[in-house]
Amino acid sequence: DANEASSMMDVSKRVSELHHLLHKYNHQYYVLDDPSVPDSEYDALFQELKSLEAEHPEFITPDSPTQRVGDKPLSAFETVTHELPMLSLDNVFDESEFRAFDQRIKKMLGITDSEIIEYACEPKLDGIAVSLLYENGLLVRGATRGDGTQGEDITLNVRTIPSIPLKLEGEGYPQRLEVRGEVYMPKKGFNRLNEIAKAAGEKTFVNPRNAAAGSLRQLDPKLTAKRPLEFCCYSAGVVEGGSLPESHYAVLNQFKAWGFLTNKEMACVQGIDECLAYYQNLHAKRDDLAYEIDGIVFKVNRFDLQKRLGFVSRAPRWAVAHKFPAQEKITVLQDVEFQV
Ligand code: NAD
Repeated sequence: DANEASSMMDVSKRVSELHHLLHKYNHQYYVLDDPSVPDSEYDALFQELKSLEAEHPEFITPDSPTQRVGDKPLSAFETVTHELPMLSLDNVFDESEFRAFDQRIKKMLGITDSEIIEYACEPKLDGIAVSLLYENGLLVRGATRGDGTQGEDITLNVRTIPSIPLKLEGEGYPQRLEVRGEVYMPKKGFNRLNEIAKAAGEKTFVNPRNAAAGSLRQLDPKLTAKRPLEFCCYSAGVVEGGSLPESHYAVLNQFKAWGFLTNKEMACVQGIDECLAYYQNLHAKRDDLAYEIDGIVFKVNRFDLQKRLGFVSRAPRWAVAHKFPAQEKITVLQDVEFQV
C-alpha cells in the first residue's frame, strides 16, 4: 500500500545517504589518512547501514560499504594484488552480541551449546594491516591491505621497521610465507612525535593510528625510518613449499621463533566465559599498555574449524572484534581539533 511504498522510499533514501557518507569517510580515513569524524560516529553509521540491510536485503549492493574492505589506495605506490584477500573483522559492541557470535558459530558447526570452543584472544592493535612476503626466509615485499584485494607496495618503508625481520631466524619455514600483522605507533613515540611537531609549528597527528598510517605511506623511506613504528604479527597468508602448525595460537608461537614480535597479552582460552573474563581484564589494563588498542579480537583457534566456517564478503566468520566503548577516542579527536 501507499504507506509501505513511502516507507520503502525512506529506507532507500537513507541507504544511499549512508553509502555516500561512508564512502567519503573511508576515503578520508584510508586514502588521505585524514579522518574528519571520530571512529564512534563512523561505527554508528556503519551499524545503521548494516541493520537496514539486514531488514531489507534487497538494498544490499556489491559496492555497499558493508560488503567491502577499506578503500582503493592512490597510485603513488606500485599496486600489489593480494594472492589471498586481506579481510576486515566483524565487530560486536556488547556481551549479548558477543554471545550471539559464539552461538552462531556452534550452530554452523553443528555442535551443542554445552560444548566449548577454543578461542585465541589478542588485543586489537590500532594501526594498519600489513602483509610481509618471505621467499626462502628473505623479506621480498611489504604491502598495505588497501581495499583487501589491492594494496600498496611499501617494501622500502617496512624494511626500516626494526621489529620486522629482513631474514627469518631458525629453520623449518615454508619457501614462500606471507606474514600478516599490524604496524602501529606506541603511545610514547606518538606523544614525542607530536611534541616535536607542535614545537616546529607543524600539524599534529590526530591519534597513533593516523600517525602510523601516515608514516608508513611516506614516499621517502628515510622519513619512515625516523618514525617509532612497530610490527606485531597476527596471522599467515600465503604458505607454499612447507607447512605451518594446525592452530592459530601455535602459528603465532612459531612466528615468534622465526623472529617476529607477537603480542605479550595474547592467550588461548576455553569458551565464551573465559573470553569475557579476558576482555574485562584487558579493558581494565588498557591505559597501562604501551600502545593503543580499540578492542579485543577473538578467533576460533583450530584451523579445521575455521575452514568449515569460511568467510562472508568482507570478514571471516570465525573471528570477531569486541570493541571497547568509544568515549576516549572522541575526546582525543576534539582536543587536537581545538589545538589546531
Ligand atoms: P577494523 O579495524 O574494525 O578490523 C580489521 C583490522 O583490525 C585488520 O585489518 C587489522 O588491521 C586490525 N587488527 C588489529 N589487531 C588485529 C588482530 N589481532 N587480528 C586481526 N586483525 C587485527 O576494520 P577496518 O576495516 O580496518 O576499519 C574499520 C575501523 O576503522 C573502524 O574502527 C572504524 O571506526 C574505523 N574507520 C573510521 C573512519 C573515520 O572516518 N573515522 C573511516 C573508516 C574507518
